[in-house]
Amino acid sequence: MRTQYSNEITPSLDGKSVSLCGWIHEIRDMGKLKFLILRDRGGFIQITAKAGTCDQSVLNTINEVSRESVVDIKGIVRKNEKAPNNVEISPVSIDIISKSGSPLPLDVTAKVDADIDTRLNNRFMDLRKPEIAAIFKIRSKILSAGREFLLKNGFIEIHTPKIIASASEGGTELFPISYFDREAYLAQSPQLYKQMMMSSGFDRVYEITNYFRAEEHDTRRHLNEVVAIDAEISFIKDENDVMGFLEGLILSIIKSAAECKTELDILKKEINVPGDIKKITYDKALKLLEENGKVVPWGADIDTEGEKFLGDIVMKRYNSGLCFITRYPLRIKPFYTMPHDSEYSRSFDLEYKGVEISSGGQRIHDYNLLVERIKECNLNPENFGFYLNAFRYGMPPHGGFGLGIERVMMQLLDLSIREVVLFPRDRHRLTP
Ligand code: ATP
Ligand code: MG
Repeated sequence: MRTQYSNEITPSLDGKSVSLCGWIHEIRDMGKLKFLILRDRGGFIQITAKAGTCDQSVLNTINEVSRESVVDIKGIVRKNEKAPNNVEISPVSIDIISKSGSPLPLDVTAKVDADIDTRLNNRFMDLRKPEIAAIFKIRSKILSAGREFLLKNGFIEIHTPKIIASASEGGTELFPISYFDREAYLAQSPQLYKQMMMSSGFDRVYEITNYFRAEEHDTRRHLNEVVAIDAEISFIKDENDVMGFLEGLILSIIKSAAECKTELDILKKEINVPGDIKKITYDKALKLLEENGKVVPWGADIDTEGEKFLGDIVMKRYNSGLCFITRYPLRIKPFYTMPHDSEYSRSFDLEYKGVEISSGGQRIHDYNLLVERIKECNLNPENFGFYLNAFRYGMPPHGGFGLGIERVMMQLLDLSIREVVLFPRDRHRLTP
């Protein structure tokens, strides 16, 4: 329906006829002079209607139209130094395609943000704000940058089932669903299936997929449904090869976000692209924390506060926002994690500004060792029959990671997790 987006209208088009479509952002009526601000995906443009020079039907429509209505405006581009961006439209016709009700549930022009619940309850309207839309344009950019990196490196995109019969990660954080006459669960991650793909000879696979986690969190970095880039790679020497891929992936993601100049300007944010990524062992991380007055007992996971502390220390010491924590104690990592020795594992977490954004490592590929580890983790190998089968007839050494998109987005833009998901699912929120 349109010839241009508003941001494509420049003074150089002076005198040209154009068709623009979008929402009425603002209406200013100065009697003989009436202004509309039209908003579309590209930005804003001023529509200026003068009594006398403009058709009476256009003036009548302006009197009648309500804010946030959807309109189709045909008019002539006029250069004008007094207008925003030195350009405006002199309207020839205005069609109201869809009239907005009023009062509005949310003020799109408000200088002060509504509270997050009002915003999320009216998300469709919240997303009309350019600074909110910008978040999701960046999210789309980083996902395509991630995909591009993986495809360039020979990864094959897969889709694994989200309705599953048993836990992928152990633990009890599963959402049960009724599956005909049986109970099934929503998948916590594609872990078991992407590993099975390693026995198929695909060598490098990835999936951009939802994780469902029935965890009763109430934090600014947990949701019950998230999206992650999951990858698995065969014929690795050890976990360092996996970290190499993850490093390439996250750096290309951050770089692509830093290139979103228009969106970052709207958000008034800047993104620094780190150089290389430091690797710190778990033991060294504990030592750094202890030197700075925070004691984490050996064998415990580094908690939220510890991660934040560590992020600050790494930033001060190495001037980097990203670091790998490697060689976690075996006992705090899932059963499929490759042991380094009896105490330590070939695992890692990737931290970004003091928050975990990814976990990964080398996996066990030996059938007997895997069965042994399942038992040691107090799980029943019989529940993993379909998975274990893939390890009995030729399985290459492999490893992989899961990189949480929401965590990446929130750390990139310093936002809370609810802001970077269209329709977040948390303990209290199931709609919209
Ligand atoms: P955390 O310890 O931070 O709760 P996790 O170790 O349970 O996360 P993993 O199972 O390692 O999470 O999942 C891999 C990645 O997926 C995480 O590093 C994170 O980026 C993302 N992720 C997992 N669960 C959540 C969640 N509930 N909310 C947001 N992101 C999540
Ligand atoms: Mg983790």
